[in-house]
Formats: sequence, C-alpha cells, structure tokens
Amino acid sequence: MKTLDYIRVVLIQPTHPGNIGATARAMANMGVSQLVLVDPVDFPSPVATARAAGADEILDNALVVDTLDIAVADCTLVIGTTARSRSIKWPEKSPSKAVETFKTGQHSKIAYVFGRESSGLTNEELERCHFLIRIPVEESFSSLNLASAVTVILYEIRKQLLQSTEEMTVKSDKLATAEEMRHFLEHLEQFVKKIEFSDGRSSKLQRKMARMFNRIHMYAQEVRMVRGLFKSVEDKLDGKY
Ligand code: SAH
Repeated sequence: MKTLDYIRVVLIQPTHPGNIGATARAMANMGVSQLVLVDPVDFPSPVATARAAGADEILDNALVVDTLDIAVADCTLVIGTTARSRSIKWPEKSPSKAVETFKTGQHSKIAYVFGRESSGLTNEELERCHFLIRIPVEESFSSLNLASAVTVILYEIRKQLLQSTEEMTVKSDKLATAEEMRHFLEHLEQFVKKIEFSDGRSSKLQRKMARMFNRIHMYAQEVRMVRGLFKSVEDKLDGKY
C-alpha cells in the first residue's frame, strides 16, 4: 500500500519520550510518516529512539512546533481524539466513520490530533477540530495509553484503505485550511464585538460558532465571501461609506 502521506499525526505536549517513540513505531507499522510534536516535554531523547525500535526516520523527520495552529495550518481536515466527552458537546464520530469522511479524496492533508497524557486536549484545541473520535473502550476505564490510541486509530485507517479497492486520490484542495478557518473565527470574534452582539470569547458563543462553521466544512472561497461580508458591515459602522 502507498504510504499514507496525507495523514499527519500530531501529539500535543507529550510528557513521556517513550510514548513519542512508540508512536513513531506504530506509524511505521501502519505506513504513516508525518509526525508533528507540539511543545514536547522531552525530545529528542534516547528513550524515544529506543522505543521507536528502528523507526528512526520518523523521529528524525518529526517536526517540533510551538502551537497546534502551526501544526495543522495547511490541513483541510483536523480530527481530535478524546478519551472522554465534553461539557459543550463537540461532533463525534466513530474511528471508522472518520475514515469514511476522507475516502472521497477531497482532502489534501488530514491531521489526527492526540492530547496530553495527563489531561488530553483543552477546549481551545478542541475548537480547532472538525470533529472528535473516541475509541469505544469500556466507559469505566476509557483512557488508553497515548501510543496505544495512535496504534488503534492508524490501524483503523489502514484496515479500511486495504479493504477499499478505490485508490484515494486527492481531487481538490479547495476546502478551507485550518489556518484560514482560524483567521475566519478570529475575524468573526472581532465582528461580534464590533456590532455589540456579545462580548465574544468570554461567552460560549464563540465556541458554538466554531462548532457550527466546522460542521459546515467551508470552502476557502466561502470563507473569503463571509469575511467580505463582515468587512463591509465593519466599514459601514466606521463610516467609510
Ligand atoms: N486523562 C486524559 C487522557 C489522556 S490519554 C483525559 O482525560 O483526557 C492521552 C491521549 O490519548 C488523549 O488525549 C487522546 O488523544 C488519546 N486517547 C486515549 N484514550 C482514547 C480513546 N478511548 N479514544 C480516543 N483517543 C484516546
């Protein structure tokens, strides 16, 4: 099978270098090569290299960045992974349904985002995700080891693609990227403040707006159109015309 080069594994602030190594090993097993580490606590590390068991190339090529926004900037689909449900419900899919969403070949780069060993993903990070997936393990003991979660999820992708006879080809890259969506949501927040609809981020409004726009899965052109609309209202309020 062709390397799944459009799949990116993003680990947020992993604490244990052993988990980074075990993740690289699982990625090599499953044919996925892009690893991005957001502010890792201890990397590079001989412990990571030992646990990678030969998947050194993935560790050597791993990108270390400061924020999730940088890690997923060019992705058109950002999938969060979680061991637990959240107070504001975010859309959830099963690991297998998640793969179905990109079998159509509409996405050029897809990120699977994994949280910290101690506390998972923050709500802010969750807002960057189109939807979440939870591996359906026992409710009473729902938290898998980080690298085990990576293994199960990548196996699900691999299994489905092996079953699928159609070659996954990228048809279009016109969907808005994570970076375009972030700028859009920042603009929306400013706009909401400007028209005094609400004080923006302090309320739950912004999170709900992010959830709605992620669900729609906007095209880049639609993002530009709605931002143009905000701009035109802003200009009017500023008395520009
Ligand atoms: N105590 C943390 C658990 C973190 S486990 C919490 O309450 O969120 C570290 C990471 O492994 C999680 O952030 C998630 O990315 C992944 N993970 C663990 N269990 C998972 C599960 N059942 N389904 C999907 N991802 C899981």
